[in-house]
Amino acid sequence: MVLERHSREYVETRVRAGVLEQGTVDILRDSGVGERLEREGLQHQGVELRFGGQGHRIDFQDLVGKSITVYAQQEVVKDLIAARLGYEAPIYFEAEAMQIQEYDAQPRIQYQFDGTSHEIACDFIAGCDGFHGICRPAIPAGQLQIHERHYPFAWLGILAHVPPASHELTYTYHERGFALLSMRSLEVSRLYLQCAPDENIENWPDDRIWQELRTRMATQEGFVLRDGPIFQKGITPMRSFVTSPMQFGKLFLLGDAAHIVPPTGAKGLNLAVADVRVLTRGLVEFYKTGSLEPLRQYTERCLRRVWKCQRFSWWMTSMLHRFPNEDSFSHNIHLAELDYVTRSRAASTTLAENYVGLPFDTPGLF
Ligand SMILES: Cc1cc2nc3c(=O)[nH]c(=O)nc-3n(C[C@H](O)[C@H](O)[C@H](O)COP(=O)(O)OP(=O)(O)OC[C@H]3O[C@@H](n4cnc5c(N)ncnc54)[C@H](O)[C@@H]3O)c2cc1C
Repeated sequence: MVLERHSREYVETRVRAGVLEQGTVDILRDSGVGERLEREGLQHQGVELRFGGQGHRIDFQDLVGKSITVYAQQEVVKDLIAARLGYEAPIYFEAEAMQIQEYDAQPRIQYQFDGTSHEIACDFIAGCDGFHGICRPAIPAGQLQIHERHYPFAWLGILAHVPPASHELTYTYHERGFALLSMRSLEVSRLYLQCAPDENIENWPDDRIWQELRTRMATQEGFVLRDGPIFQKGITPMRSFVTSPMQFGKLFLLGDAAHIVPPTGAKGLNLAVADVRVLTRGLVEFYKTGSLEPLRQYTERCLRRVWKCQRFSWWMTSMLHRFPNEDSFSHNIHLAELDYVTRSRAASTTLAENYVGLPFDTPGLF
């Protein structure tokens, strides 16, 4: 049984992530929800790192033989909802979970639906209610270890009705700060600028955003960034956050409820799917054989991947952003690292291997 606080329309139009690892695409396809994704998703074989006015391509296919797919998170959500309703399994929209009880023995969830209070008794609770949900706070604070890092910058992100200026993502390091050219479709561009964490969006009229993007993304060859109507703007803070353990009795934390990554590595949605994969396998084993063993390993198996994705996201963020009070030494270190990453095949392979997603089934490793 799925409880969702918001309406179906709201969750099907909420704009968030958009880069799917190959492993995520495989999971969605194998679960029977890959048909539209395969038809409409944009397959990318690489990304560009731009610095010093020059672009350098990291060729995923050549380096690791894999690719990524750009397909907006709300489209994944639409496909999942349609599939679940298609086999007549319930999703309760506008049903807000209020309280969780006895998660270590006989779990129960109290929720509000249609103006009245209800209660479900359940075998297990999948706490996939995001960073601000109720599942993580239901656990006594003394039983949780929190590992956290706040970054001294944020991303100002826009969606614009204009074809993307490049057919692959372009990550730019510039003295004025980071910029990212991404896309949601062949007609819609998604662009980001590094800004202060307390930046006021009111100070960023459309013209200023386009001008700043052009300044940071300029190349010696005369890169042209066409503008178009901006239909959404927002500021996203940058944070790394990990909860340990991710399991308490019969309550499991998944996705943002358990961990947050800065978006630079495009890992947030992919990590949530990876948690679902581990939990699903454990549940299938339990209902087939009665064994709880795979479920007992949930935290360990998830955290192995979570920490590797945290490391990658932190590394990409540190390499590509300007920190406050950076001097010429730090600037040259950024440039040297980018030069190394783009010229050394070993270093490019490391980036590519992590970006397309670490393999799932390497025993003991991932
Ligand atoms: C503004 C924004 C932009 C982002 N951009 C990117 C990006 O570009 N790239 C990237 O990789 N990642 C990005 N992310 C991160 C990525 O979207 C998340 O990692 C991903 O959504 C995690 O999925 P989740 O299911 O764990 O949590 P969520 O997607 O947050 O889903 C949790 C759901 O639980 C529901 N819920 C919460 N509380 C209750 C309750 N009490 N009762 C019932 N339902 C409840 C919520 O309404 C929500 O629908 C972004 C996140 C945000 C917020």
